[in-house]
Amino acid sequence: MAERIVLALGGNALGNSLIEQRLAVAAAAVPMADLIQAGHELAICHGNGPQVGMIDLAFETASRTVSSIDAMPLSTDGAMSQGYIGFGIQKALYRELRDRSIEKMAASIVTQVLVDPNDPAFTNPAKPIGSFYTQEEAEAIMQADPSLHFCEDAGRGWRRVVASPEPQEIIEIEVIRSMIECGHIVIACGGGGLPVIRDGNGLIPWEAVIDKDFAGELLAERIDASLFMILTAVDQVALNYGKANERRISSMTADEATAYIAEGHFAPGSMLPKVQAAMRFARSRPGRRALITSLSRALDGLEGHTGTMVTA
Ligand code: ADP
Ligand code: MG
Repeated sequence: MAERIVLALGGNALGNSLIEQRLAVAAAAVPMADLIQAGHELAICHGNGPQVGMIDLAFETASRTVSSIDAMPLSTDGAMSQGYIGFGIQKALYRELRDRSIEKMAASIVTQVLVDPNDPAFTNPAKPIGSFYTQEEAEAIMQADPSLHFCEDAGRGWRRVVASPEPQEIIEIEVIRSMIECGHIVIACGGGGLPVIRDGNGLIPWEAVIDKDFAGELLAERIDASLFMILTAVDQVALNYGKANERRISSMTADEATAYIAEGHFAPGSMLPKVQAAMRFARSRPGRRALITSLSRALDGLEGHTGTMVTA
């Protein structure tokens, strides 16, 4: 049965250097085209952590030596990353689909996502982004601009930390929905979307990073998808992950997932948000389900051969 599917693709799976990215995106087009060829409708949301880091560092470095170049705000870095990652996916899908005599088009939407400036996440910014600094450099920057926060990041140096608020609304949702209804493939909410808050009739960018797993979940609800697929580096979710008694699970209910979370099976910042997003989607309406699996095994997972299916 043909389904409407939202794919959330891990940013780390997209590679770090430009050549890695090109190869990773070309490889990603194959499982995406498998799903399209099987008759499914697709909206694609992707991560951008390494890519935003690269853009931010490039402008920051250039701004120190070229007076006409400014360091970029996070929102502009994010918009650039949505553009060039989307371009890569469009190019790769164009070729892959035509190689299979499928005439469908994919296009990217630079997507803004509304956040609540009173979100509790803003009182405790915790998401590390951008380049590494020494403690002295970080303290000097914080003194010059008290709105910026820095933290020590896992022994690797000091990094800027920003809040990771909940996505409230996808501003361009009607555009995305009409593209899907017309049979096009949409790439949207890249990097979790560009966070904005309302300002009268306008929108203003807000320094934050939205988790792409939660933005993808909201996208899946808003376009009334039946399946939300979170594609990452592992084939299945595991209990006791990385330990001798590791056990992979092929399905769990949202209640079972709640119990596993309480037992601490899913690492915060990596598997935990995926499981939470999957549960949220499964509970959002009867019949909806979410699948966590690897990119290369997306179709296998959909056919029940691998992956972890999360149901209400
Ligand atoms: P993405 O870039 O796709 O968001 P992340 O690195 O954020 O990927 O999250 C996926 C990673 O979560 C896996 O590669 C794995 O190392 C880690 N992980 C943590 N806990 C678990 C678990 N219980 N089962 C499987 N993987 C887990
Ligand atoms: Mg992640």
